[in-house]
Amino acid sequence: MPDLIHFAIPAFIALLLAEAIFSAISKKELFETKDTFSSLAMGIGNVLTGLLGKAIIFGAYMLVYQFKLFDLGTSWWVWLLLFFSEDLSYYWFHRSSHNIRYFWASHVVHHSSQKYNLSTALRQTWTGTFSGGFIFWLWLPLLGFHPLMVMTMQAISLIYQFWIHTETIGKLHPVIEFVFNTPSHHRVHHSSDIKYLDKNHAGVLIIWDRMFGTFVEEEERPKYGLTNNINTYNPLRIAFHEWSDIFKDIRTAPGPLAAWMYLFGPPGWSHDGSRKTTEQLRREWKEVGKGRKDRPIEILAKQDFVDEDFSPQPQDNR
Ligand SMILES: [Zn+2]
Ligand SMILES: [Zn+2]
Repeated sequence: MPDLIHFAIPAFIALLLAEAIFSAISKKELFETKDTFSSLAMGIGNVLTGLLGKAIIFGAYMLVYQFKLFDLGTSWWVWLLLFFSEDLSYYWFHRSSHNIRYFWASHVVHHSSQKYNLSTALRQTWTGTFSGGFIFWLWLPLLGFHPLMVMTMQAISLIYQFWIHTETIGKLHPVIEFVFNTPSHHRVHHSSDIKYLDKNHAGVLIIWDRMFGTFVEEEERPKYGLTNNINTYNPLRIAFHEWSDIFKDIRTAPGPLAAWMYLFGPPGWSHDGSRKTTEQLRREWKEVGKGRKDRPIEILAKQDFVDEDFSPQPQDNR
């Protein structure tokens, strides 16, 4: 079966060029050459690894489909039901990719740029399929959705998510912003500001974040990237750095429980408190924030930046 994403690539490139030209003319500096090229390299690697990855996913779906609970067929209402079910699966896949380090190791790639433009959309994992990210969709073929329908809907979702990686579009009509994932909502998702961390996990519909309590509205302009940026343009390093960090952490873990947490705990978890999870950062931020409303959020958000001179003792900082 032809991969829909391959057909969309020319449109991706054309829109990317249009955004780059707009950025140059308006002097907005939305792009950085090396960053863009490493995003493109990650995209190419994703397509190449996807050739094998898609076969693995199809095989896994077909295996589960043998035990399907219902014979759903292909009528229009099945597609409609699939649209919502696929998008819900994506939400939980994406939310888990931020909360479980094992999945984060693949997903971190997508968040490693400090720029936010259409090329960031192409900055994709090389390891996501091989580490089993597709398990979040397995219930769909088990229910009786045909594997090819599921994979088609997944491709449609990814294609949808391309256009939201831009700063050139502000907020849209309130009805659209209420229902759909938009550039504004997804800018929040790509931010390293504590207020915005691990929010807006939606694929196509933002309603899931509203329903499950992970929605945050975009207010001040987000700062993009990771709380602890990797500062590299090397595609191999971008693709594998978190896996190698996990390996190092497990090797030096003081016991089996710590080793388990380094793999399946939240990103930022550490046995000695030397690093912090989003929850810990947010708790500190809220405590320090009390009575200090004038305090710029971004100062706290940048606590872990290697290139910042911010001292990591919030009580001493004014
Ligand atoms: Zn994400
Ligand atoms: Zn994104």
